[in-house]
Amino acid sequence: MKYFTESEFNNFEMMDENLLSMLDDLREAYGHPIKLTSTYRSPDHPIEAKKSKPGEHAYGAAVDIACSGGKATYKLVKAAIDVGFTRIGISRKKNFVHVGVGYPDAPPVTIWTY
Ligand SMILES: [Zn+2]
Repeated sequence: MKYFTESEFNNFEMMDENLLSMLDDLREAYGHPIKLTSTYRSPDHPIEAKKSKPGEHAYGAAVDIACSGGKATYKLVKAAIDVGFTRIGISRKKNFVHVGVGYPDAPPVTIWTY
């Protein structure tokens, strides 16, 4: 990767290659450092275990990015859309943006809030 090191991912081998490529594109488009707050989560991770079935992080197909403030969040979300992310979750309360590339049966185009 151009902008990230493997150590920034808790299990780099489990990460989706397309997601990693788009993440570099996102970092380039955003133009500022990106801090990952969640990457791969195994299906028995407490957050995944609570769900009826494991979500995007359990496929290595998503990351959460620390982001606070309306302006930074706008810029990050715009950059994510510009580079082709079509699954975006925004938490202004917890100051992060989720970007993902999907998994079987996931809605391919969606945006949500936490
Ligand atoms: Zn997430």
